[in-house]
Amino acid sequence: MNIILIGPPGAGKGTQAKRMIDRLGVPQISTGDMFRAAVKEGTPMGLKAKEYMDKGALVPDEVVIGVVKERFGKPDCAKGFILDGFPRTLEQAKALDGLLKGMGKSLDHVVVIEVPDDYLVKRLTGRRTCRGCNYMHHVEFDPPKKEGVCDKCGGELYQRDDDQEATIRSRLKTYHDQTSPLIDYYSKQGVVRTIDGTKSMEQVQEAIQKAIGA
Ligand code: AMP
Repeated sequence: MNIILIGPPGAGKGTQAKRMIDRLGVPQISTGDMFRAAVKEGTPMGLKAKEYMDKGALVPDEVVIGVVKERFGKPDCAKGFILDGFPRTLEQAKALDGLLKGMGKSLDHVVVIEVPDDYLVKRLTGRRTCRGCNYMHHVEFDPPKKEGVCDKCGGELYQRDDDQEATIRSRLKTYHDQTSPLIDYYSKQGVVRTIDGTKSMEQVQEAIQKAIGA
């Protein structure tokens, strides 16, 4: 099963992907998580990516495509994958077409999670990410039992630099300008399933399961 999750920042792509991996038996490939890991390790690629991430801008296509290409080479991708946060530009989508063709694979579903901008600003500014396991709590909608501590692993919760309001507005603009044209691109391939992302996590999960028949 090869799936892409598309949606504005904060639409719940990461949350839903994490809920899908066990059921589908395929890995989640989150370019955002991979960049954050590289930033944490202080690799040259991470330092370069950080410059863009902090501004709410996109990391250059050639860097992102290189990272995904390498990831596809790992054995766990043989059965398929859930792409979360990639592709984000038409250039990346075209590169992905080439990579899939080279692996003899094709896309089964492109799940588009729709959420209005104002709703997202509220969601994202309240987000607290775990340094240990990347789980995301929300100060209002999913508060941890103990402030600042992840319920899942006991790790420290922090607010990502790119979850500050000014950065969020800029990430939303980036999404509308550069990523939303992909919906049209994939509609032409007949693989788009649109989901209302304003519902609860459980309802969104159910809607996705129904849309992909899994
Ligand atoms: P995310 O966690 O998916 O919201 O990604 C966080 C940040 O990482 C984005 O705001 C971008 O700066 C960068 N990033 C992640 N995925 C991509 C991608 N496919 N193309 C370009 N930049 C990306």
